[in-house]
Amino acid sequence: MSAYDDSNIFAKILRGEIPSTKVYEDTDTLAFMDVMPQSPGHFLVVPKAPSRNLLDAAPQTLATLFPVVQKLAHAAKEAFAADGIFVAQLNEAPAGQTVFHLHVHVIPRYDGIALKPHAGGMESAEILAAQADKIRAVLAG
Ligand code: 5GP
Repeated sequence: MSAYDDSNIFAKILRGEIPSTKVYEDTDTLAFMDVMPQSPGHFLVVPKAPSRNLLDAAPQTLATLFPVVQKLAHAAKEAFAADGIFVAQLNEAPAGQTVFHLHVHVIPRYDGIALKPHAGGMESAEILAAQADKIRAVLAG
């Protein structure tokens, strides 16, 4: 497996070099909307610590990340009145990974509605901002 390369797009988002539509942030974790959502409300949860994916992540990174994934999955289910939440995490290109900084997809699902293709069409910035607001409102409780 290749070494971590900090020129990936999520490392740039974490460094504030390119914009993202933020959903949640704490000391160790950032969550932001996926620009090519597979379902309305699709966002990504990203540890700030560098790793390519699950395979090279420090156990402590995973231990910190997954409680946040759970909290945000609950918030997304409520914010989008979803029937279910698909949580996905891809490891290396043959598994479909396209950005090589560990991230977890959180995707609202609905009975009888298929997912759009992975990394398909771009969503508008206005819609992504409105969706992030909905999640933040649930988190603010
Ligand atoms: P992967 O294939 O690595 O599991 O998923 C990468 C995800 O990142 C895809 O769902 C894709 O839509 C999303 N993505 C790619 N470039 C950007 C970007 O610049 N900003 C955001 N917010 N998402 C991105």
